[in-house]
Amino acid sequence: MQENIYRAFLIKYGEIGIKGKNKSNFEEALRVQIENALKHLEGDFRVMRESGRVFVFCPKVYDYEETVEALQRVFGIVGICPMRVISDKRFESIKEETVKYVREAFGDRELTFKVFCKRADKNYPMTSPEICMEVGGFLLEHFPNLSVDIKNPQEKITIEVRQSHAYVYSHEIPGLGGMPVGSNGKAMLLLSGGIDSPVAGYMVAKRGVTIEATYFHAPPYTSERAKQKVVDLAKIIARYTGPIRLHVINFTDIQLAIYKTCPHDELTIIMRRYMMRIAEDLANKNGCMALVTGESIGQVASQTIQSLACTNEVCDLPVFRPLVAFDKADIVALSEKIGTFETSILPFEDCCTIFVAKHPVTKPIRGVIRASEAKLHGQIEALYEKAIETDEVILCEAE
Ligand code: ATP
Ligand code: MG
Repeated sequence: MQENIYRAFLIKYGEIGIKGKNKSNFEEALRVQIENALKHLEGDFRVMRESGRVFVFCPKVYDYEETVEALQRVFGIVGICPMRVISDKRFESIKEETVKYVREAFGDRELTFKVFCKRADKNYPMTSPEICMEVGGFLLEHFPNLSVDIKNPQEKITIEVRQSHAYVYSHEIPGLGGMPVGSNGKAMLLLSGGIDSPVAGYMVAKRGVTIEATYFHAPPYTSERAKQKVVDLAKIIARYTGPIRLHVINFTDIQLAIYKTCPHDELTIIMRRYMMRIAEDLANKNGCMALVTGESIGQVASQTIQSLACTNEVCDLPVFRPLVAFDKADIVALSEKIGTFETSILPFEDCCTIFVAKHPVTKPIRGVIRASEAKLHGQIEALYEKAIETDEVILCEAE
């Protein structure tokens, strides 16, 4: 690690549609998420909100690449601008520091530029156009490799004069976009060990929703390693969302009861209905306002429109299915991008793959399914309570 010319980052966020109190909530959620993302890095980063801006101030020595990577995983950030901090904001010093910045940032590359200025300090003795003109001229004197292009510059060199400091930057690294986690409530993700549900959780979190998760396991039919795989997936999603509380529910007895009592071609659909009911219960107990699943129309028998309608009817909370119209190939591409794919394809059994019928119903009729479920009355109530009691909460943090 070495001292870096960039001693701060200006964080740009998409502002469309956020005003008034929402804007303040949004900025605060963003500040908290940035702090979380940088918490594990070496050095004492300071994240500050200052009149409609969010800044990250860096310690003297820090790892630039690692810091940018961490910021690139924070939802709500659209751009990350590494800045040089000019602590003495007298104009002479601004000029000198801008020259140093340009030398280090561009070396002797041939390029066209334009200077922009933002002046938050309205008492500054020079106007913005004056600053642009003077600094532009000064740069031209110092760098034969630079020329001005007002209409279409290759580099936009921006100088900001604020109350305490001035800053110079030119480079904007893209962020993920979306909204900061914590700005839009909380939802319960049904997280399996598959490819889809981790991606679904990521997508909903990207809209600013805090994610809590539920995994149904069926020991001894499903192994500890299958459970560990889900924990590992939650830890990967937590790189973007912050820590995830994962509820692990023992589903074995409910599954066995369904297996013994209901028609085998309806097993999957009835099992899915019980998963939804339990997840909704846990959601209500934990302040979650919606459920999230990785379902997609037509992907498997339990995901035809009729099946989705059938699992939907057992819950009152809205069920978000962000992948509903995605092709599998697109879901796979996303899971590779976010880093869950390698873990998702590890070959461990899932409770949905045990006790499955050879020919499950693809067009379940709700009345028929309800009648089959009615046969469980008398035994299912106690099993349901018992399953809820097995709730084991695992806090999954990014590693
Ligand atoms: P995934 O890749 O997410 O497992 P899938 O294509 O295998 O999805 P299904 O097995 O039909 O599809 O499951 C559909 C959805 O139901 C999953 O995306 C997930 O949200 C939820 N789900 C399935 N099995 C479990 C489980 N064992 N625990 C929690 N949620 C589950
Ligand atoms: Mg699955």
